[in-house]
Amino acid sequence: MLAVFGEEIVKATFVRSLCVGLWLGCAGASNLALAEKPLSQVSAPKPLMQAKQVVPNVYYVQGVSELGSSANQNFISNAGFVVTPAGVVVIDALGSPELARRLLAEIAKVTKKPIHTVVLTHYHADHIYGLQVFKDLGARIVAHGAAREYLTSDTARLRLESSRQELWPWVDEKTRLVPADEWLTGNKVLTVGGVRFDIQPVGPSHTAEDLVVYLPQQKVLFAGDLVFRNRIPFVGQADSRHWIEAMQSLLKFDTRWVVPGHGPISNDAKADMTLTRDYLIYLRESMGRAAKDMEPFESAYVSTDWSKFEKMPLFKSANRMNAYNTYLLMEQEAK
Ligand SMILES: [Zn+2]
Repeated sequence: MLAVFGEEIVKATFVRSLCVGLWLGCAGASNLALAEKPLSQVSAPKPLMQAKQVVPNVYYVQGVSELGSSANQNFISNAGFVVTPAGVVVIDALGSPELARRLLAEIAKVTKKPIHTVVLTHYHADHIYGLQVFKDLGARIVAHGAAREYLTSDTARLRLESSRQELWPWVDEKTRLVPADEWLTGNKVLTVGGVRFDIQPVGPSHTAEDLVVYLPQQKVLFAGDLVFRNRIPFVGQADSRHWIEAMQSLLKFDTRWVVPGHGPISNDAKADMTLTRDYLIYLRESMGRAAKDMEPFESAYVSTDWSKFEKMPLFKSANRMNAYNTYLLMEQEAK
């Protein structure tokens, strides 16, 4: 990682265009040295996937708090599913086709109904590489239209090429990027089998295309990557100012349960969001001060007190990139 960052300082623009997902992605799989994987890693025990019921007919599976790797099949994010009389609505498609098939197996344990719709909270690799499995079954894919630009970008293409190395054999030549069937531009009420899903755009925050999915009858909110728990958030190219505001707006939902994009569910929305919000505010304050004083990033990073966050999983692999991206963002905002 250090070499990557050294290069980043020199070629800031180039790396900025890549680092959206290549190294830390909310999808991770970032150490290029891992491209040559020992067989033992591929044949390592699969990470456990077990659907947990949130309320009747509403379930989720929880990824591990790690970077994506072939050892964990890129199971580093959460996905949800809701069983309705007309079929199953899935929220997020997980980080490899194999994980999507395992999610289907979990769904089959509770219902024989087909997959009706997949709603994507955003187009980061760890939430979408399983999408083709649902598409091939005839599911309708719904996402926010702001993702279209990313889907056709070099960033997405390079990311997938890189993932085919780093996440092999779970992501390979057959893994493809799948566009939505319906691109949203605003709020949408989706009703499937009498179950209501309020889909609300909340970007640009973690990504330009962030959506949250709220079930008013069950009072469950799928918050996507606006909320990270039990790990350092992935900031990437986020608009952290709007992200913080959008998190406040999530508190307006009448929730019994919040399912985050990463980490365990919570029944205390406010506390649930504290880590992500405090972290973003701290990044913006510390890096904003440095950018304003024109202090070089390196010295600002070293002199910043990270003790509040350094015990969190993924601190070592994500914090420096998050801080650097925030430093660049704060330079932009200061102009
Ligand atoms: Zn993400």
